[in-house]
Amino acid sequence: MVSFVRLATTFAAAPGESLLSWLSRLCAANDISTSEFSLQIMGREAGEFAALATRDEHALALECVTGVGAASIREMMHSGPDPALTTFFDQPIPWSSVERSKRRIAPGRLAKDQTPFLRALWSIRVISCEPTSGERLVSRCTCGQPLWWSSMHRLLECASCGTDLRSIPMAMGTDEEIKVSRFWASMYSLKPRRRIEARSMLYPAVRDCDPAKLVQFAEFVGAIRELAPYGGLHTGTLILLGLPQSVQQLSVSWRRAVERAMVEFLSSEFCGAARGEPAKNRIQSSMRPVCRTRV
Ligand SMILES: [Zn+2]
Repeated sequence: MVSFVRLATTFAAAPGESLLSWLSRLCAANDISTSEFSLQIMGREAGEFAALATRDEHALALECVTGVGAASIREMMHSGPDPALTTFFDQPIPWSSVERSKRRIAPGRLAKDQTPFLRALWSIRVISCEPTSGERLVSRCTCGQPLWWSSMHRLLECASCGTDLRSIPMAMGTDEEIKVSRFWASMYSLKPRRRIEARSMLYPAVRDCDPAKLVQFAEFVGAIRELAPYGGLHTGTLILLGLPQSVQQLSVSWRRAVERAMVEFLSSEFCGAARGEPAKNRIQSSMRPVCRTRV
């Protein structure tokens, strides 16, 4: 039978901390590297540290190792059998919206932390700015190297040049970037009150959508060619927030496409996610009947 040994020093994750950030801090406190943790403590391959966040079968082993209940650990993981959707704490989110390979950080916020840790919200790609400070999140050191989890030695250090990530110059996002980031941070907040407030800003027809569907809807709208070069999830989110007036600027055919998409995204028949089709295919297939000219 496989057995796991409790680390000598253990502590709970900070509220809202990402699983990998917490495990990295536990490794540092026990003077072991994350690859040693994967290999020697968890019995996995040395390079599998980042994968611990997406394999809920490791939750029980992590409970033994950290002393924190498996249910709490599972909540911090991105799990589920659906190839298109996963979880962010207790909410659904598209897999494609979660950054799993690189650390995304807010240098200014980390510099102010008494005990620095990486917020789970920072791993959501559509959140481009730290919601509190408004600074842009970065996933690359000033030396140009991405902040890969796989090559990380210390949580707050660049593995290539050793720079303390807190010394990376902070850059503020634009008002629109901050607005979009704050909206999604509220939608995925661990505080139910925040989520209710964010929903109350939405057009009633989409207000009850689950957040994963809202992300997919914003992706769909952001992919509208007419909006190029302003397209993308950022523009899609601004249109979502400005409904119904925001679609008035579109031509009739695209306006109908957006309206039709709203119906499809809200309908339980929109099951592309369950079939495991990539989001892009689902978006295209949901547009196809709309763009066809009826005879
Ligand atoms: Zn560097």
